Order: sequence, then C-alpha cells, then structure tokens
Amino acid sequence: MTVEAHKETLGFQAEVQQLLRLVAHSLYSHKEVFLRELISNSSDACDKLRFEALTDNALYESDPDLQIRVSFDKDARTITVADNGIGMDRQEVIDNIGTIARSGTRQFMQKLSGDQTKDANLIGQFGVGFYSSFVVADKVVLLTRRAGMGPEHGVRWESNGEGEYTLETVDKPARGTEVILHLREDDADLLNEWQLRTIITKYSDHITLPVMMPVQKFSEDKDAPPKIEEERINQAAALWARPKQEIKEEEYKEFYKHVSHDFEEPLAWTHNRVEGKLEYTSLLFIPARAPFDLWDREQSHGVKLYVQRVFIMDDAEHLMPRYLRFVRGVIDSNDLPLNISREILQGSKVVDGIRAGSVKKVLSLLEDLAGNDAGKYAKFWKEFGRALKEGPAEDYGNRDQIAKLLRFASTHTDSAEQTVSLSDYLGRMKEGQDKIYYIVADSFAAAKNSPHLEIFRKKGLEVLLLTDRVDEWLMSHLNEFESKSLQSVAKGALDLDQIASEEEKQEQKQAEDQFKELLARVKTVLGDKVNEVRISSRLTDSPACLVVDEHALSAHLERLLRDAGQSVPMSKPYLELNPHHPLITRLKDEPDTGRFGDWTHLLFEQAVLAEGGQLEDPASFVKRLNGLLLTISG
Ligand code: ADP
Ligand code: MG
Repeated sequence: MTVEAHKETLGFQAEVQQLLRLVAHSLYSHKEVFLRELISNSSDACDKLRFEALTDNALYESDPDLQIRVSFDKDARTITVADNGIGMDRQEVIDNIGTIARSGTRQFMQKLSGDQTKDANLIGQFGVGFYSSFVVADKVVLLTRRAGMGPEHGVRWESNGEGEYTLETVDKPARGTEVILHLREDDADLLNEWQLRTIITKYSDHITLPVMMPVQKFSEDKDAPPKIEEERINQAAALWARPKQEIKEEEYKEFYKHVSHDFEEPLAWTHNRVEGKLEYTSLLFIPARAPFDLWDREQSHGVKLYVQRVFIMDDAEHLMPRYLRFVRGVIDSNDLPLNISREILQGSKVVDGIRAGSVKKVLSLLEDLAGNDAGKYAKFWKEFGRALKEGPAEDYGNRDQIAKLLRFASTHTDSAEQTVSLSDYLGRMKEGQDKIYYIVADSFAAAKNSPHLEIFRKKGLEVLLLTDRVDEWLMSHLNEFESKSLQSVAKGALDLDQIASEEEKQEQKQAEDQFKELLARVKTVLGDKVNEVRISSRLTDSPACLVVDEHALSAHLERLLRDAGQSVPMSKPYLELNPHHPLITRLKDEPDTGRFGDWTHLLFEQAVLAEGGQLEDPASFVKRLNGLLLTISG
C-alpha cells in the first residue's frame, strides 16, 4: 500500500475566505472565544468516537480515556488544543475545514452587505467555529488522524488564513486532532496559565469530558524547581445531569452556545428531569434569533440525543416535530439501548413518549413567556411565529395549546405587528357575536383595505388580518377556539343576523325584492364568470365584492397554489352588490344595454382587483374604463 505523502496547496472555497475576513473583523473584541470553539469541536469529536466505538470497540486503540488537552509554549508563542477523538482523514479535512458544507451558506453570504459593522451582527446567526482561530493566530497547524487508521495516515493542514492551505500526509501515532495556534504578537498575553484557566472555566466548564492542562506545581521546598502536573480544569460533569439549583445562568448560556453552535445567548430554556414510566432528562433552549436556514428543508442541528450521558446522534425529526425545529438542546434517556439506530428510533414507543413530553415542556415554556414576559414573547414571535403556525396542522393533539400561543395583526390595532392573541379577541367580542372573523390576503395593505371589512368596521367588529403564506394552511386546521368557530369574512353568506338590528334586517329584505331584476340582468351579462349575483350585507362604501363558497379555496390560496404550479379547479365566485351605492342604484335604471354591459363588467373587474386578483383580459378592462371616463369628461 502506498501512502500519498505528497504535499499540496489548495485554495479555500470563496465563501470561506469571505467568512474568514468577517470573523476576524467581528471578533476582535471577544478574541478568547477561539478556545471555546476548539474545545467544543474536540468534545464533539470525542462524542462521535464514543458513538462509533459502540459497534467497533477497536477504535479506542487501547486508549479509552477520552480527553481534551490545552497547553501553551511561551517561547514558541503557541497554544495547542488536542483531543483523542474521532479525528479526520485527508478528504474529511478538505470537506470540513476548507469548505463550508452547511446548506444555506450561499443565501447567508448573499445577505452580507459588505459593510463590516452591519455584517458583524449576522455572524452570530452563522456560527464561527474553527475559523475563530485566525482571530488570534496568524498561522494555524492542524494535525489529525482518524481513529482506526494506521499511524502513517496522519494529515497535516496548515494555513495563514489568507486564501490557501497546505495538506501533507504525516505520521501521527496518537489518534485524534491537535490544533496548534501560532499567536500574533499582540495576543501573546494569552500565554499564561491563569488566563487560559479563566477562559476555560468561563466557557467550557460544562463540557462533559475532562479538559486537562499541564500546570506548574511548587513543592514545600522553595529551592526545588516546580513540577509540571496535568490538572483537570473544568467540572467535566454533564451539565444537564446536575441538579438545577446548582447550575448558574451563565453555565446554561455557555452550554447553549456549545450545543447550538450559536453565538448569541438563548432567549429561554427549560430543564427537566422526568421520572416514572420513562426516565429522561431534557434541557431545551429557544434561540433568540432564527438561524439563517430555518426555512431550509435540510437544516440540521436540532436536539441531541444522549443515552445515559453517551452522545448518540443529532436528530431533529424524531425528538421534535417540524414546527418546533428551532428548539435546541439535549435529551438524555435512561431507557433506550446504547446501540439504538435511526431506524429503531422511528418506531420506538420510548422515543414517542419522550417526544410528547418534551413538546409539552416547550409549549409550557412558551406559555410562560407569553404570560410573564411580553417583550420576550414578542421577540420570539417575530423570529419563530411562522414556524409555530405550522403547529395546528402538524400536531393536532396540541392544537388548543398552540392556538393560545398564536399572534395576529387585527383591525383592532391596525398595525402590521402580530400582537393580538385569540384570547384577546374573545375578550373584545360584541354582544351576540359568536364567531372569530378573519381575512387572508397577499399583503397587510390588501387585508386592511379589503371591501369585505366594511360592514365589520361599521359595526365595530374586530377582524384578524392574516398575510403570512402559511396562514391559509393554518386556518384550514384551526376551525375553532374555545368553542367559537373561526370564519373568513370573504367566504360564504355572511350571517350577521344576531348583531343586526330589526331595522337593518327589514332593509335587507326590501333591497332583495327591489333589486331582483337587476341581479338577474347582471348575471346574464357575466354568465359563467360568477356563480350567482346577490345583495350584499358586507359592504358600506364599495359598490361590489366577490365572495367564495364556505368550503371553497379562497381566492388567495388559489393564487398561491397556481403560483406553485398546481392545477386548481376554477371556483366560481359570488358577486355581491351594495344596494346603497349610487353606482348600483343608477345601474338599476340604466336602459342602454351597451352601457349596462360595460358597467357590469367594470364592477366585476374592480371587485377582482380589490381582492388582489388578476384580470383575465386587462386590455378590455382599460378600454371600458377609458370609454366611461370619456363620457364623464365629454
Ligand atoms: P461546526 O463545529 O459548527 O460544525 P466548525 O468550524 O467548528 O463548525 O468545525 C467544522 C468541522 O470540522 C466540524 O463539523 C468537524 O467535522 C470538523 N472538526 C473540527 N474540529 C475537529 C476535531 N477536533 N476533530 C474532528 N473533527 C473536527
Ligand atoms: Mg464547532
């Protein structure tokens, strides 16, 4: 077998170069985080080894005590972080260190403005990882060998962080990875035991593995030279396994950064030990900011599964439903077997139980936030509300609890901010009102100004204004809230009878008789374009509007589906006319058939436009409109 010992020089992926520059710029004031990132990577590498070794014990190579070692050399001006974890082979080094494999990287890079100060804020969303080394080092050497491969399969990677790196095959007897940072002159202050110790306890105390450091020990005899001894610097106990009351807020926050690869502090967390039929511990966090890949179907990094403190896998689907995919953290089970596979996870009753319990914990945490810290909850909603709106469809069992967490814009606040809860709405319902009214539209302006809202405004009835893409989907799965049904104001015959006065009912009846003939004439002109023409109880200012059947897709959803390339059956709308509008009363007495036809078509077309719809034949619309304008000006 020949070993490729050749040395080659490779270029970083363009995105890596961009990221490197950004990292260097955004981190100079927290330069010590490089140590957290390297220790975090070492810890992950040891977790991976422990997991792979469950099925292949030989990977331990008779060195089963996993640990991380931090050391420094004042004269050489280096800091070294070493681990005996899984290590990497040549290709893995290229893939993991020279490229950013994570999906969504390109979109992230496109968001960068080029203004370094602004971009520095975005870095938190991405996580800096290994590249933070270059904040303090002008040369980084990484030596690594994958567990289970011969000592001659070591790989040496070196770079100054400026576009290129070299790769070489070298001998590396010890399994795992060693990262040697050649510090810049300005950062030489890091080269002392006390500094490093402080940084490690601050950022990496919660790491489950021992972080060792060679330290000087002075003996009683003052003249004897100090001895060097390896000392464990961190607590090295799984944070989630420690009693809650002993854990400091700072420790939770640092632990979050480690498990989530996030750079910012979490918004909230919930830590629980469950005993009884199932035994497990969960420590779950809500991030403060949506990761850039929240809408990416392939996004990873969710909740990590441990079995009796042994890391098993990163897995989002099995431990959290999709609508809670933003949750980060750890679940540690005492009931699952250590050799559990993804396939077994899928059908496992234990996993189902853990998942159900954990979902409840997250929902209660959110309920708590909503009840006790409105500011924080608003922040949460802004970042993750659209994901949570997928909940009622995906998690039918928790529908009621999720519904309480939803927030909407409404005619009551007339602001695009989604701040109104369904309970707020119930509290403001009018005497006799038995439904929760809403409208779905393409934009906030379209919703707010829709003619469908006219009668509601007049009567002072609140309407929820829904404009997120997911809203129609949400509403089709949320039929009621606290036994009040939810009703689209643009669907079906509007039944406002309970809140209408006797007088109003009388008027409506009269109008129906009076306009009978007009309705029939309009229907004849429009033919197949409409299902039926009727008198409206919705309108006060506009002459006409379109309404769809109670169970039909709304015009809005039809458009969304068509945009997505789906074939949607054409649903014929109802045209409703406002009997109090002068255009309608005049139309009633229009003897000229040509003019009557033009007016009728215009009424229909403007109703389509007011819905945010598109005209089938815009040119004819323009012609008709101009014809009418001429009669006015002429
Ligand atoms: P992240 O940890 O978020 O994946 P990093 O930039 O910190 O991003 O690391 C990139 C990748 O490099 C890791 O996912 C891992 O595959 C690899 N890596 C880094 N450090 C080590 C290490 N000490 N041992 C093994 N693999 C490592
Ligand atoms: Mg990392």
